[in-house]
Amino acid sequence: MDLSFIVVFGTRWTFRTVDRAWQGVLNCPDCRSPQIFQEKEAVKAFTLYWKPLWTVERAGHLVECQHCQGKFDVPIELTEYGVGLTPALSV
Ligand SMILES: [Zn+2]
Repeated sequence: MDLSFIVVFGTRWTFRTVDRAWQGVLNCPDCRSPQIFQEKEAVKAFTLYWKPLWTVERAGHLVECQHCQGKFDVPIELTEYGVGLTPALSV
């Protein structure tokens, strides 16, 4: 059996930095201290050999703690400044 004909593909959730992403200090529930957070966008990507090729689904924005990599919903206060305004598909 020749394994070179097996094509590995699938989908995977990835988190990518958005253009003009918000960055600032928030209280991290996991670290229990103020940490630097970065805005990210959650996208489900079609992958071929584990490499994301294109986006198949978008799930809105979130903020990621740069200390523990914990991911949380964008705080409601930040949406007033236009952070994370890409509508989530689940609404
Ligand atoms: Zn944290």
